[in-house]
Amino acid sequence: MVSEKKDIRALSKEELRSFFVSIGDKAFRGTQVYEWLWSKGSHSFDEMTNLSKETREHLNENFVINHIKVDQIQKSNDGTIKNAVKLFDGLIVESVLIPTKKRTTACVSSQVGCSLDCSFCATARLKRMRNLNPDEIYDQVVTIDKESRLYHDKPLSNIVFMGMGEPLMNYKNVLESIEKITSDEGLGMSPKRIVVSTSGVPKMIKKLADDEVKFNLAVSLHSAIQETREQIMPFAKNFTLPDLRESLEYWYEKTNRKITYEYIVWKDINDKWEDIEALVTFCKYVPCKVNIIEYNPIDEGHFQQASSEIIDDYIEALEHYRIPVTVRRSRGKDIDAACGQLANKQ
Ligand code: SAH
Repeated sequence: MVSEKKDIRALSKEELRSFFVSIGDKAFRGTQVYEWLWSKGSHSFDEMTNLSKETREHLNENFVINHIKVDQIQKSNDGTIKNAVKLFDGLIVESVLIPTKKRTTACVSSQVGCSLDCSFCATARLKRMRNLNPDEIYDQVVTIDKESRLYHDKPLSNIVFMGMGEPLMNYKNVLESIEKITSDEGLGMSPKRIVVSTSGVPKMIKKLADDEVKFNLAVSLHSAIQETREQIMPFAKNFTLPDLRESLEYWYEKTNRKITYEYIVWKDINDKWEDIEALVTFCKYVPCKVNIIEYNPIDEGHFQQASSEIIDDYIEALEHYRIPVTVRRSRGKDIDAACGQLANKQ
């Protein structure tokens, strides 16, 4: 049952300080509680040992700590770990730990389900049930950091917002979670190690630039031809390529930071020479790099990855124009933890 009490982590530090003043206590108690909640990741008020018993009881009467709970852990034979995490209202999202030799990366979710309708993505079939709160996003990162230390002997090094959901459709909470992840009172991670991946919401990309965010941006492009893009990402009818281009130019002008385009090459969809040409042209607008991602089949059929010859043609053309390109191998496929496969199968 969902508690009627207020989630204490919805309060800012200032609000917590005012709360203590309002009950006749000292403001610095608010700071202490804030540290317990965020730097130390407390799950209960009883852990807050520098508070008096009465204060802890008072907090228990008035608030809850809606911490996420890991419901199920799956381990892939390539070291990838997928967590199904249960939220306070019983809904479930997934997050993934991806280890490589050099780094360990957390792939986190920003929404339960997704508001967009990419036809090649398993999460899109769930529809959007709700946005995650900042603390629910933060908790996924803390959980994966712990797993990284436990199973790989090192702290988490990178975070990608490439799990379930469209981060820019949950703008405020995603930014608040990043604020916590990067602040010294939270995890103190560098924003340079964070990538927010969007399917391309022009208005919000401009807002990111205006808000002077310091993390990196990736855009799931998949086609630089409007008609093709609309076929596979129907929402693109409203978020057109010219608008996307304009927003990315704005982003670069303000931030001076390169954009990464994520791109899957499918048979019979974007495997023609004109598709390659369109991508090369699009890449000339703003300094960027291209990340060609392996397609992870989500059902029998409709979408199939193009042949490696065609992917090589893409690479050759991009390299010819000195556009950096990398190919990303999928990880965790055997446990449905790879890109686009997160869909709460259990
Ligand atoms: N909504 C955001 C972030 C979540 S998806 C976005 O669209 O960027 C993260 C990445 O996985 C995106 O690049 C998306 O296009 C890609 N993806 C979705 N389904 C996939 C699949 N079946 N195989 C491989 N990548 C997929």
